[in-house]
Amino acid sequence: MKRVKYIFLTGGVVSSLGKGIAASSIGLLLKSRGLRVTVQKFDPYINVDPGTMSPYQHGEVYVTEDGAETDLDLGHYERFLDMNMSRANNTTTGQVYYEVITRERRGDYLGATVQVVPHITDEIKRRMTELARTGNYDVVITEIGGTVGDIESLPFLEAMRQLMLKVGRENFLSIHLTYVPFIEAAGEVKTKPTQHSVKTLLEIGIQPDILIIRSHKGISSEIKEKIALFCNVQTNCVVSAKDVSTIYQVPLELASEGLDEIIIKKLHIRAKRPDLSKWRKLVKKILSPKSSVTVGICGKYNMVPDAYKSILEAFVHAGAENDVKVDIKWISAEAIEDGNNISKHFEGIDGLLVPYGFGERGSEGKIKAIKYVRDKKIPFFGICFGMQLAAIEFARNVLKIKDASSSEIKLTANNVIDLMEEQKGITEKGGTMRLGAYACTIKRGTKTYETYKSVNITERHRHRYEFNNRYRMAFEEAGMVFSGINPDKDLVEIIELPSHPWFIACQFHPELKSRATKAHPLFREFVRACKQHRKT
Ligand code: GLN
Repeated sequence: MKRVKYIFLTGGVVSSLGKGIAASSIGLLLKSRGLRVTVQKFDPYINVDPGTMSPYQHGEVYVTEDGAETDLDLGHYERFLDMNMSRANNTTTGQVYYEVITRERRGDYLGATVQVVPHITDEIKRRMTELARTGNYDVVITEIGGTVGDIESLPFLEAMRQLMLKVGRENFLSIHLTYVPFIEAAGEVKTKPTQHSVKTLLEIGIQPDILIIRSHKGISSEIKEKIALFCNVQTNCVVSAKDVSTIYQVPLELASEGLDEIIIKKLHIRAKRPDLSKWRKLVKKILSPKSSVTVGICGKYNMVPDAYKSILEAFVHAGAENDVKVDIKWISAEAIEDGNNISKHFEGIDGLLVPYGFGERGSEGKIKAIKYVRDKKIPFFGICFGMQLAAIEFARNVLKIKDASSSEIKLTANNVIDLMEEQKGITEKGGTMRLGAYACTIKRGTKTYETYKSVNITERHRHRYEFNNRYRMAFEEAGMVFSGINPDKDLVEIIELPSHPWFIACQFHPELKSRATKAHPLFREFVRACKQHRKT
C-alpha cells in the first residue's frame, strides 16, 4: 500500500487568519492534481462538539451527512473540495478526554496512572490517523484549531510531533500560517511576531517546512528572505497570502506562489498538473457580476455573520450562477417586532430569507416580516425555524387561527409546530436533535420540483420541532402546498405557495449542501426570483 502523506496546518500570531480557508485551498489544489484528499480539524475546546454552544460564541454549527455537529470550517472543506465530510473529520479535546475517561472507568488501563502523555496523545494520534487508515486517501490535511502558544492546543501539537517521528519526515509536512502586520508609524511590515510564533513551535519540537504569510498587501522578496533566515525555512517555502476580495481567490493566489508544487516536491508525490479551469471561471463570475440583487436576512444573530456562514456562502455560489452579486441587508427581527414602519426596513429588498433560530426572542418580528413579503409578493425563502414561522404566519393570517404557535415559543391550543414524538422525554441537550441527512420526496408539478428536477432527494437537518400533521388538510384547503415530505415518517419537509411568485420554505438546511462550483438549487432559484423581482 502507498504511504499516506500527512499535512499539518497550525496558526500563529493571531486567530481569524483564515486557517480553514488555507486548509481548504491546499485541499482543492491537491485534489485538482488528481490526488485523493481529505481535511480534518482538531478543536482545542472541552465541549464534546459545538452543538451546545451559542451562535454568539461559536458561529454556525455545521452538520455533516452522518449527523455530526461540527466546526464551521468543515463547511469550507466541503464547499471547496466538493466532498462530504463526516464525524471523523472533526475532533475536540472534549471527545478525546471523554473517550479516555470512559476507558479508564471500564478498567482498560489495568491500574496505570492515566496521563496526558501518553494516554491523551495516543488517543489524539489514533484520531489523526483514522481517516488515513481507511485507505481512501493519498493525503490527509489536518488543521489544528487555535493559535500556537495556547495552553489548550499543546496536547495536539505534542501528538503531531510524535506522529511526525512515527510516519517519517518524508511523509509529513508542517505548514504554519502566520501574520505580518504593517505598522503605519514605521511605514514597514514587521516579521517579529512570526519569528516568535515559529520559535514557540520549535520549542515543542516542530520545525515548520512551509510558512504561509498573511498580510494586507503582500510581502516583498526581501521580507521573504528575512523570514526564511530567522525561521530556518527555505526562501521559496515562504509563501505570501495577501488579502483578497473573495475567499474563493485564495487557492489561485497560493497556486501562483507555487504552493502545490512545493508540497508535492517535499512529500515526494507524483501528481499531474492542476486543472483549475472551473475554479477560475467561478472566481471570474464572483468578481465581475452583471448586476446585483438585495436579499434581506431577518434573524436574531445578525451581529455575528459567522452564525450564518453557510447561508452567506450559498448566496455567493447562487449569485455566481445567476451572474449577480447578492447584497445582504440585515433586518433585525426585534426592531420590527412592533409592526410599525416595516416597509422602511424593506426598502430596496428583492427577497427575504428567514434563517434558522431557536427560542421565542425575535420570533414575532420574523412572523411580521413573512406576512409583509407574502402580502407584497416579494420572494420568500424560509429555512428551518424560518419554515416553522412561515407556517405559523399562514395559520394566523390566512386560516385565522389567532393563537397558532410553536410549542417551542408558547403552548397554545393550536401548536401548528410541535415537538416530534421521539423528542418528547429527551432531556440531554448534546447531539439529540433530528440531525443529518434524511430522505425527502418531492411532489411533481410544484416549483420545488422544477427546482430540484428530481423526486427523491436528501437534505440535512438540525431541529427538534416539526410541522403538526393535524393541520395539513386545513393548510392545503387554504392554498398551501406540501411539496416535500419525508417518506419514512410522513413529516413535512418543504412548503410552497403556488399563488405567490416565489414562496418556499424548508425544514432542513439546504445551505449545508451548497458547493462553490455547484450552487444549491433552492438558493439558485431563489436568487433567480429575486433578480426577476428587481426587474419588475
Ligand atoms: N428551533 C427550531 C427547532 O428546534 C428550529 C431549529 C433550526 O432552525 N435549526 O425545531
